[in-house]
Amino acid sequence: MNPPDCINQTDRMNPADRVLTEQNFLFRGMDFASVEYMLEHSAIRNLAAGENLLQPDTPNHHLYLILEGKLSVHLAAQETLEHTLLLAEECAGEISLVDGKHPSALVVSTGSTRVLAVPHDTVWSLVDHSHEIARNLLEIIAGRMRHDNMALIASQNKKLQFEHQAYVDALTGIYNRHWMDNAFPRALQRCVLNKLPFAVMVVDIDHFKRVNDTHGHLVGDLALKTVARCMAENLRPHDLLVRYGGEEFAVFLPDADLDEARIIATRLRVVIADTEIRCEDVSFKVTISIGITPAKHEDTLENLIGEADQALYRAKELGRNRVEIFG
Ligand code: GH3
Ligand code: MG
Ligand code: MG
Repeated sequence: MNPPDCINQTDRMNPADRVLTEQNFLFRGMDFASVEYMLEHSAIRNLAAGENLLQPDTPNHHLYLILEGKLSVHLAAQETLEHTLLLAEECAGEISLVDGKHPSALVVSTGSTRVLAVPHDTVWSLVDHSHEIARNLLEIIAGRMRHDNMALIASQNKKLQFEHQAYVDALTGIYNRHWMDNAFPRALQRCVLNKLPFAVMVVDIDHFKRVNDTHGHLVGDLALKTVARCMAENLRPHDLLVRYGGEEFAVFLPDADLDEARIIATRLRVVIADTEIRCEDVSFKVTISIGITPAKHEDTLENLIGEADQALYRAKELGRNRVEIFG
């Protein structure tokens, strides 16, 4: 491939090119005829589809006015998503014109594209000569910055959206285990630092397999959503609830001693046992079993969950729909 800065495949400017050049943003609102003579060292360049015009590792000494065709701008390699598309009347290469550095992006012709390559010296002479050209150039750069800011905001929003999706369970809308691995140890640390009690609970829906077997998986999903919502509604605002596994949930209770943890767990158990799950003509209730382990400040999250699991296992063995404490 030819270096993008060397002008090849050039034509003289024909009357049609002259009209297209005059229409470029750079000459908007001014008398083009009065500066036309200054373009004598500018050359038309014809680009084939896929041909690089500007690339970040190659110096650039021209401002390219697009006369016909389209240029695709990529912030890194061509494989990366197209950042923007430049059309006739726009220009390319204005960043390296202003800061004298290499181009800030890869600019590639998307079809057959015709550009006027204006040497940097000529652009500066035009700017010296005409306030309108100077203002147009500033406007072009401001437009580019505004577009880039908007793209940045859109990409940050997308990032937040992906982060949210990575941390939130799609079925129930509550946080998932991935979030728990990050949030629970931090909450634990805060309780330790503030010398507050805390407790960890593991909750499991009783005989959930039967719900699926009897009513089908979709109704099972609805039951899971209902249980998750009931728990969220009946915990304190600062309790941390996650879907830990299939039909299992884990809860971190900051600032809760054993008595308070037991009261909260019993409230959840009773509310859920009383909640009707309705789907069309089907109506039923489910129960939950809960294992609790109270605070031991030197403990790890894994140990605490393990202990709460042991208490849960005992709750299952003792008949389900009950709360058991570890130890
Ligand atoms: P136990 O009282 O001992 O906990 O019995 P169980 O039937 O609840 O326990 P088991 O672990 O045997 O079954 C859990 C069931 O939960 C099996 C699995 O199909 C179901 N399950 C897990 N995730 C989902 C889900 O996202 N949707 C639905 N509908 N079912 C799920
Ligand atoms: Mg289970
Ligand atoms: Mg279960």
